[in-house]
Amino acid sequence: MREINSSDFEREVLQGGKVILDFYSTECPPCEALASKFEDLARLYGNDIKFMKIYRQGNRELAEKLGVKSSPTLLFYDNGKEVAERLSGGIKKSEIIVGLDKMLSRERVTEIKSRIKPSVSEFDVIILGAGPGGLTAGLYLCQSKINTVLIDISLPGGHVSTTHEVSNYPGFIEPLPGYLLSHNMSEQTKLCGTVYKVAVDITNVDLIKKEVVIDEFETVKAKKIIIATGTSPNLTGAPGEKELKGNGISYCATCDAKYYNDKDVVVIGGGNSAVEESEYITRFVKSLTMVHQFDKLTANKQAQEKALRNPKIKVLFENEPRSFKREGDKIITEIENVKTHKTEKLVSDGVFIFIGFKPNLGMIKDTLKLDQWGYIKTNEDMQTSVPGVYAVGDVISKKYRQITTAVADGTIAAMAIAKELD
Ligand SMILES: Cc1cc2nc3c(=O)[nH]c(=O)nc-3n(C[C@H](O)[C@H](O)[C@H](O)COP(=O)(O)OP(=O)(O)OC[C@H]3O[C@@H](n4cnc5c(N)ncnc54)[C@H](O)[C@@H]3O)c2cc1C
Repeated sequence: MREINSSDFEREVLQGGKVILDFYSTECPPCEALASKFEDLARLYGNDIKFMKIYRQGNRELAEKLGVKSSPTLLFYDNGKEVAERLSGGIKKSEIIVGLDKMLSRERVTEIKSRIKPSVSEFDVIILGAGPGGLTAGLYLCQSKINTVLIDISLPGGHVSTTHEVSNYPGFIEPLPGYLLSHNMSEQTKLCGTVYKVAVDITNVDLIKKEVVIDEFETVKAKKIIIATGTSPNLTGAPGEKELKGNGISYCATCDAKYYNDKDVVVIGGGNSAVEESEYITRFVKSLTMVHQFDKLTANKQAQEKALRNPKIKVLFENEPRSFKREGDKIITEIENVKTHKTEKLVSDGVFIFIGFKPNLGMIKDTLKLDQWGYIKTNEDMQTSVPGVYAVGDVISKKYRQITTAVADGTIAAMAIAKELD
């Protein structure tokens, strides 16, 4: 692997044959998450493809010329031409491999892959999920000198990292941007010494043996497992939703509201997140039409009153979405009144869906006792029905799902485990 700068770019990259180039920055958690994957792959593919790094801030002009706007960004070159999709953000090993394999013959790829040696590492505790619940458990375990690994399919932070503002986390007088709170939580846990394996593919989880396989070839073993995988947004299930996801339909206001400056949007939902996120979206949009299935909003009183006073927000009560369709630049949302069954077409520039969440259980749900809504049942120490397996945060069966309740669960699980391992 080689570090280059902009004056080497023409010779080393454009005339360099097969090259993968990493535009990185310092103090960049996703760059740190990428570093060991990049090194592993350099060892594997390094005889066929040159692995190069370039410091983005120090080579700003070149980055801008190439349209590289964030760190890390990976570019794949073959004879001076980009040959695979650029990757940025929380980059997974499997995504890089797709790009690298594109540059080589099928036979060569098979040969390289036959050289992969499976690895095994051992820890005291595996935490699945690095949101507030998992990060807090990691912090407490680490401070108790318990060897802990945090594994996440995405970058650390969980829902908080995409929440525009958090005003109810104790200790901060002014509201805090969600990304900052989650960044601080993550850095605190990492600085303590917890090992992070993030933006990975989880290939297998065996709760009984306490083994997790990541990126196909890396087995992580432990004495205890904490599940802190949180929740994912529910889908309406209406035709067109899946096709337009990320292309007109969004589940994250912080991520996407900024793209709707002075536009008209539709929001599906009327609970806490729908109302709070709508308030935020109105900073950008010209108008917001909320479609809610009940005859009143179900968010907390204060948020409801604020939303109903907002001149940009109009609420269509007792309506449900029936389909979503793109027509040119516009999204057509067909809604039906649940009482009169009259249908109506709403024309907007984009749709946000906030209709609740479902627990992220994936391949572990069959092993555990769940409540009627599919959330994991735990006792007061956060132990699940499987010995040595704990669960914390939004993924467990409980009444209130907040950052404070997730961090409390994480604390309890970590203290219970520390006592058991002592
Ligand atoms: C839009 C919105 C706004 C909110 N605003 C507030 C607020 O202002 N105040 C407040 O207190 N609460 C708020 N909440 C609720 C709060 O964010 C959650 O209660 C809290 O984040 C739960 O933490 P958690 O660690 O349980 O899960 P999450 O934050 O959901 O984190 C779960 C983590 O697990 C990872 N993961 C998922 N599946 C897997 C897997 N199979 N293997 C490994 N890792 C996995 C995810 O990538 C994620 O990083 C808000 C929630 C939303 C959605």
